[in-house]
Amino acid sequence: MNSMQKYDLIIVGGGILGLSHAYHALLKKKKVLLLEKNSQAMGASIRNFGQIVPSGFSATWQGYGRSSLKHYLDIASQADIAIRQEGSIYIASDDEEIQLLEELHQINQSNDYPSHLLTAEECTFRYPNVTKQYCKAALFFPEEINADSQKTIPAITLFLIKNLGLDVAYNRTIIDIYTNAHEVIAFDHQGDKWLGEQLVLCNGDEFSTLFPELFAESDITLVKLQMMETVPQINTLKIPGSILTGWTIRRYESFQECPSYQTIKSRENEQDFQRRFGVHILFKQTAEGSVILGDSHEYADVNQRDDLRLFETNEVINSFMTDAASKIMDLDYKIARTWIGCYSQRKSGEIYHHTIDDRIHIVTAIGGKGMTGSLGWAEEHINKIF
Ligand SMILES: Cc1cc2nc3c(=O)[nH]c(=O)nc-3n(C[C@H](O)[C@H](O)[C@H](O)COP(=O)(O)OP(=O)(O)OC[C@H]3O[C@@H](n4cnc5c(N)ncnc54)[C@H](O)[C@@H]3O)c2cc1C
Repeated sequence: MNSMQKYDLIIVGGGILGLSHAYHALLKKKKVLLLEKNSQAMGASIRNFGQIVPSGFSATWQGYGRSSLKHYLDIASQADIAIRQEGSIYIASDDEEIQLLEELHQINQSNDYPSHLLTAEECTFRYPNVTKQYCKAALFFPEEINADSQKTIPAITLFLIKNLGLDVAYNRTIIDIYTNAHEVIAFDHQGDKWLGEQLVLCNGDEFSTLFPELFAESDITLVKLQMMETVPQINTLKIPGSILTGWTIRRYESFQECPSYQTIKSRENEQDFQRRFGVHILFKQTAEGSVILGDSHEYADVNQRDDLRLFETNEVINSFMTDAASKIMDLDYKIARTWIGCYSQRKSGEIYHHTIDDRIHIVTAIGGKGMTGSLGWAEEHINKIF
């Protein structure tokens, strides 16, 4: 690798969106370089739940998510990328949520996407730690995948390097990108220039370095999430797959397509603590036996990033979440780690993409669906670029 070689494609940003673009370009036999400002990807892609859940998204994004499932499995057949296909389960806690599960089940039957309704007894039999007081019924999606993102992202990167010939340069903050008649040039903070035919910028939630004026006038919102991880409890607990619960049913986009959704939502009080901090309760057990749980959502306009106070954790939110979680699942709630994640999303629209001079393709603000949708969406995008 040298900075005077001309690449077919330069990717800036080593999160899941950048890796997904690299993957599809490499499959087309393109010569690809990935530039990342840190010693590895450090953004939302390694801080998330790793729930690859097409069932949670709109019809279009369910399609991208289903393509992603195939791509993850395909990569996993060639390299260990720390994913498990153990399905996802949505657990209803009252009649309204049961109604939404039944309607989502119907929608997915017509979409040909497998899902199974479970009674409360069937659910608590399969997931013995789920409390009988909470669980009233459930909907299971058997094809869905769980990633251990802190391992999966580096493992996919390694797979792309070793198996498909990706070049990577870490610790390179790109501070300028421009074009001339023949190429696109990425200029890094060490003073090196990288040349490409095309460039895809997947900068995640970093909007101050490149094209700040473009982002300042966009409809991008930043979202701060709080996450927790319990101590390992591998001998006492086995929770397969992703567990999503009542407030998720009342939140995820796929349920918005259910006929009863608007009526049910209109009965909720927007001033409730849970609604104000966008809390819903999700669980996932890691291979080491700890349980990741969360999450909350606080929002700020792209120009008001500092309002999010990304340097601090709100302990009131964390104790609200562990309290709510303990009513759903019996487990040891001794917390080993907490962290904050941030992603970008659009106020209107599902992803931000913008092309400059036919060579620079900016792609970000994929929202809370990046682990699920990126591999599918990037395939379509790369097919348009090449
Ligand atoms: C707490 C949390 C939970 C989530 N749970 C899920 C989930 O279960 N399922 C799901 O589908 N999605 C989930 N998401 C959403 C998902 O993580 C994001 O949509 C996705 O990671 C966004 O990927 P990205 O590549 O756009 O951004 P990032 O992962 O943020 O990557 C951007 C990269 O670009 C690099 N970069 C930025 N600027 C430059 C520059 N100038 N030069 C060089 N490099 C640069 C950064 O260092 C970074 O590594 C969650 C997100 C969070 C925060």
